[in-house]
Amino acid sequence: MISDSQLLRTENFWQGNWYGATQRFAVTNPATGERLAEVADATPAQAQQAVSAAAEAFVSWSSLSAAERSALLLRWHQLLLAHQDELALLLTLEQGKPLAEAKGEIVYGASYVQWFAEEAKRVYGDTIPATSADKRILVLKQPVGVVTAITPWNFPNAMIVRKAAAALAAGCTFVVKPAQQTPLSALALAELALQAGIPAGVFNVLASSDAQGIGAVFTQDPRVAKFSFTGSTAVGKTLLAQCAQGVKRVSMELGGNAPFIVFEDADLDAAVQGLMASKFRNAGQTCVCTNRVYVQASVAKAFSQKVQQAVTSLRLGNGCDSKVDLGPLIDDAACRKVEALVQDAVAAGANLICGGQRQSPDSLFYLPTVLSKVDDRMAVAQQEIFGPVLALQSFDTEDEVLARANATDYGLAAYFYSRDIGRIFRVAEGLQFGMVGVNEGIISNAAAPFGGVKQSGYGREGSKYGLDDYLDIKYLCLGGL
Ligand code: ADP
Repeated sequence: MISDSQLLRTENFWQGNWYGATQRFAVTNPATGERLAEVADATPAQAQQAVSAAAEAFVSWSSLSAAERSALLLRWHQLLLAHQDELALLLTLEQGKPLAEAKGEIVYGASYVQWFAEEAKRVYGDTIPATSADKRILVLKQPVGVVTAITPWNFPNAMIVRKAAAALAAGCTFVVKPAQQTPLSALALAELALQAGIPAGVFNVLASSDAQGIGAVFTQDPRVAKFSFTGSTAVGKTLLAQCAQGVKRVSMELGGNAPFIVFEDADLDAAVQGLMASKFRNAGQTCVCTNRVYVQASVAKAFSQKVQQAVTSLRLGNGCDSKVDLGPLIDDAACRKVEALVQDAVAAGANLICGGQRQSPDSLFYLPTVLSKVDDRMAVAQQEIFGPVLALQSFDTEDEVLARANATDYGLAAYFYSRDIGRIFRVAEGLQFGMVGVNEGIISNAAAPFGGVKQSGYGREGSKYGLDDYLDIKYLCLGGL
């Protein structure tokens, strides 16, 4: 029962306290339509209060030693792992993904807290040979200040933790607005931050149905130094423009249109396995999910048969049922978008091999779908599908497929399968994407830099580079020595 969970919080959290609001909004389970909770609906005025709390806390948090911040983050990490089952259940209930995936997300999210707790201790400065004998040049790295963030519903835990862990490790304080569909996972994170002893005002969460109003405060309040966003490219552009007014630092993790290329020399079974993981994780609702599949013509038929077999064995259902591989889509709008893309593709000449509709007309369960004879001009190849639809195309030459894969405004993730070492380097270097999976369909982890190029955004999360987004470089010139 969700109401038994000690981590079920329905008020907002800043300055180390829980705050209600005059309005509340409902959180529903996409698998059943059941109302899970009514969450306090934070206002822009409350967002300003949270920013004040973060600004106040920044003074003391940034002056702790890295080791002290690290110790607190490690305590948070331990609590996240200790409560992984409960956190995963909350996540599945509000988001829909299968429990095993939800648990994977909690462990993945927690790994960033551990990673950045360790990295916090390695924020090295620099000394630079001076231009004259009486001078010295030193470089310091300092936390940027108050960080605000807006996150999406597809990874209700990890998208927050991935940003917050880096920000807190660097010495910044943090205020996040989670997606309206999935605030419970975010508020549970606040409860565990509180239990971990992270000081008041350092980690703050505001759930709200007023994304625009909260977004305006987060991007325009002069006390905010940096804004970090994960979401759609369209909303990212609006928020980026808002940040421009105050020349705020930004990290933008936006949409993708990932190609998945299978060359004729690939291990086809491994490619099918990688494709299934990359396409159907979270029912296709991740920004690094495969969107376009290009198979070399000589192996297209064999590959398509293997894919069809794998897809028809997927089990769709309530994520709380342990036998399920695929949960529902997040809401009706998401289902309608996927339906429209599939209908458009079929009308334009694509073959519907399986799926192509909801399990029942009024549910949010969209059947795993395979389309063949897809064309680059179809909307299904140009837009982010964000659903369980695998769209197959074929190609003849390496140069051709590289050009087609790159012919998109997006540049987040790309994947390809080949066993030819020369081709592996040529294609990996030629793909205009921030991340490339070579003979691998799942690529994200705390040690690696996650992020995109082109209109998929900028900034990197995770890895030894991840702290840079939250640090300013300060140059000291010592003269008259
Ligand atoms: P998705 O398609 O994944 O829902 P969005 O970009 O619409 O992607 O949403 C990602 C996050 O951005 C969510 O937290 C949402 O509430 C927030 N958001 C959406 N529109 C705006 C806006 N105009 N201003 C600020 N935040 C917004």
